[in-house]
Amino acid sequence: MRAPKPLLLLDVDGVLNPCEALPHRRPPGYQTHRLKPDCWIAQHDGLPEHLVKPLRVWLNPAHGPALMRLPYELVWATTWEHDANEWIGWRIGLPRTEDLPVIEFGDQDVIRPDGTYVKTWRIVEYAAGRPFAWVDDQIGDADRAYVARHHTGPALLHYVDPRKGLTDDDFTVLADWAAQISTDTTKGADA
Ligand SMILES: [Mg+2]
Repeated sequence: MRAPKPLLLLDVDGVLNPCEALPHRRPPGYQTHRLKPDCWIAQHDGLPEHLVKPLRVWLNPAHGPALMRLPYELVWATTWEHDANEWIGWRIGLPRTEDLPVIEFGDQDVIRPDGTYVKTWRIVEYAAGRPFAWVDDQIGDADRAYVARHHTGPALLHYVDPRKGLTDDDFTVLADWAAQISTDTTKGADA
């Protein structure tokens, strides 16, 4: 039986949206969007929606097709949560008709007492031993240690520079890693 594809867990800000790039230098290939998703409005302490300034988001419409060419199953792992399907996916060229699964993180502190990022334990729980690559701009040593301790399958925690967002090099790393674990799985089955 063919092993299921690994999961590719996608962050938005810092990965698809190079939010730390110089403010007046939109990176090549990106388009500017001014968006007011619920997750942004909720950060404004009850300010009426019409008074909330839209969030500027840079997105690259080539990213969706490039992500779909990778041998992964795509999943949102972003604090945009379900808003990512409504506001982000189709703007990067993912099909409008098909929502990606969403890992929910809820309204929690960003860093947990053990120093891990709020997403990490939920990601491990969601993956439930299945191989995953996680692309995020907030991955640190505590997260790597947590995953090594608690996740039984292969995992790639791949840091993306929020000044650049996903680059060709990142896509190469993701493709190579998927090929590597596929080879390892086949070898394991032959052994
Ligand atoms: Mg981020």
